[in-house]
Parts: sequence; structure tokens; C-alpha cells
Amino acid sequence: MVWTDRIDQPTLVLNAARCRANIARMAQRARTAGVSLRPHSKTHQCCEIAEWLRAAGVTGLTVSSLAMAEYFRDEGGWKDIVIAFTVNPRQIKGILALASRCDRLGVLVESVATVRMLQEALRKGHEEQLPSDRAVTLDVWMDIDTGYHRTGLDWEAPETDILALARQIHLAGPHHTTRLAGLLVHPGHTYKTRSIAEVEEIHQKTLGSLYRVHDILDSDPDLPDKSQLPLSIGDTPTCSMLTDFGQDVSEIRPGNFVFYDVMQANIGACQLTDIAVAVACPVVAKQPALQQIVVYGGAVHLSKDRIVDAQGRTNFGKVATVTEDGWEIYGNDEVYVKSLSQEHGLIHADAHLMQSVQIGDILLILPIHSCLAANLHKRYQLLDGTELSAVHIPKPL
Ligand code: PLP
Repeated sequence: MVWTDRIDQPTLVLNAARCRANIARMAQRARTAGVSLRPHSKTHQCCEIAEWLRAAGVTGLTVSSLAMAEYFRDEGGWKDIVIAFTVNPRQIKGILALASRCDRLGVLVESVATVRMLQEALRKGHEEQLPSDRAVTLDVWMDIDTGYHRTGLDWEAPETDILALARQIHLAGPHHTTRLAGLLVHPGHTYKTRSIAEVEEIHQKTLGSLYRVHDILDSDPDLPDKSQLPLSIGDTPTCSMLTDFGQDVSEIRPGNFVFYDVMQANIGACQLTDIAVAVACPVVAKQPALQQIVVYGGAVHLSKDRIVDAQGRTNFGKVATVTEDGWEIYGNDEVYVKSLSQEHGLIHADAHLMQSVQIGDILLILPIHSCLAANLHKRYQLLDGTELSAVHIPKPL
């Protein structure tokens, strides 16, 4: 009996040993660098996997939505969480309710207007719903844009704008209040790099930008002790490829590293053999004239994320074959996923694969972006046939 015998549709398979090895390695990197690891858990969205992180010494998580934070709080007992997504004013009520049930709840802001809304809600609007015997302090991180240009206050913004945001956060209320938690940056532009030197260059620029903002805050005697102000960085390429994050960085928040994927291997952040997830896909047709094998496994199972690989081809995934205890990456680089439609995957095949694979067999596809593949499947099959099903599923409206 092979572990794939019962697979009859596209299934996300998790190699737990590999995932735990990835976690152990990153936890060790953080310890060696003297920073705390607050892994971004949007990658796995799963309390069981969060327990593997806890076993490696992790005490706080990063998430990307209020629903995910509630899931890890309620299902996993996590009480130190940062919602690393710009505060959505329409969810402030839920954010404050959750804060009252956490030891530390962090949120991200980039505008004075949002901080005012948080403070207003803390003081008045929803105060009745917050416990009166316990002061609710919301950890408010200043999201700084150092070059990725997705969110954050521009690191080159005028001093007055930077100070205005920090001062507004620091305006303490009488009871429920906001606290300046630190400076946070997500340098996601490392995903465009292809070498350690390029990642290092972005990291040095990121640090320089953060130091400028920090120096500006330092110049204001009314702000709290800046020497203690945490700096939080983190993306999987930086955290996997560098060992020294800078002496003032206190926290890293990589997420993808628990699984890695073809994109990370392409950047140089991991080996293909570190990738811990693959989508098992039934073979449904062989078309030798087109040099292609058709699998049941498309964009709804892998996402449409792609890379342009070293050969200049648009590549939607790396092909692997089933082994007794997992999978083996198919050696010939000529074989790759050349296109995806909603349910179909088209594999460009060589003569050997065309001959050795039969209709009804399983082929595995290592995803280009594992976070999106995991989010699409919402459960994992382990190699021993058991399932991790406690994946965060948003509550109905
Ligand atoms: N922090 C923030 C704010 C993010 O948006 C992300 C990912 O998008 C991460 C950390 C984790 O980065 P990565 O996906 O490279 O592990």
C-alpha cells in the first residue's frame, strides 16, 4: 500500500518532518542572531503547526487578519499576537474585544486618522463592552515603508509627519489606551532578488531607513524610552539568507519558511528538498503529440502564482514523483508545469515521464507559492495518511 492510494482529487500533502526541520532551523537562526521569532502564521493557518512552533520556543504569532487572530487565540490559546495588516476601521470593535482577551495584541498603523479612531473607540464607543476591571492596552506598531511600497508611512516622510503619528499613538488615555509598540517593516521587495548580495543590499537599506525614523523619534523628549523601542523586520528571504539582522533589530516575522516553495528556492532562500508541501494530482490524460501530461490540479488548487525560471519559461510548479515515503523531485528541468486553468494543470513532459507515468497515477506539484496553495486547500494530508484539518476557516458573516 502506497501513501497515495486513497488520494482521488488534488490534495495538499505535508511532509511534517521537513516542516519541523524548517521550524527548528529558523528558531536556531533567531537564537543565534539574538532576536525573537514571531512567525507569520498566515502561511499555515493551523493550530497544530503553531504547536510545532511553540515547541521550538515561539511565544508570539503574527497573523494577517482579525479572524485569524481570533482563531489562534480561541483554538490555540495564543495570547501574544500581532495582526500585521493595516487596521481596518470597520473591525475596530472586534479588535478591541480580542485585545481584552489577549496579554498583548499588536496592530499596524500608518495614519494619525486611524490611531484617532482606535483611541476614540477605546475611550467611548465600545468601552462598555470592554472589561472595566482590566485596562486594555493596544500595542500599536508604526508600519514603515522602506521600499516595498505596499503599506506603511514612507521612511522619507517629513519629520513632522513621523512625529505626529508617534505622538498620537503615545497620547495615553485614562484607562484603555494605545501604546507605541515599535517600528515594523515588511521588505517584500526581496522577492524580486535572485542572490544573497541583493537581499543583503535591501536589508542594509531597510535598516538605514528604520534608523532615520528612529532618530527622529529619539529627538522628541516627550516620547517614551526610545532606546527600548523594538524594531520588527521579516520576510522569508531575508531571514533565511542572512545571519546578522543588525544589532537594533529585536524581532523577525518570517512565515513562508515553515513550508518554503519553488519561489523561495528560485530566490536562493531554500533548497528544493526543503519544501514541505506538494499538491498530489491525479493524472487524467497523456498527449504525446503535445509533449504534455494533463493532471487534475489547477489554479484553484495551486493559485496562479508563477515564476519565470532560469530558462526564461513561465513556470507554475515543479513536478515530483511518488516515493514510498514521500516524493522525489523530477530530475529533468525540461519537465515543469507550463500552464494552469481552473481545474487542469498541463505538465510539459519528457519522453521518460510520458512513458513511466500512467493515466490514474499521482504526480506531485511543488507550489510556486505555498501560502496561497495552503489557503486554497485549508487542510493537509500527512504522509502517514492522517490529516490536519484544524485550519483557520473564516466564520460566516
Ligand atoms: N510580515 C508581514 C507584514 C507580511 O505581510 C508578511 C508576508 O506577506 C510577512 C511578515 C512574512 O513574510 P514571508 O511571506 O516572506 O515569510
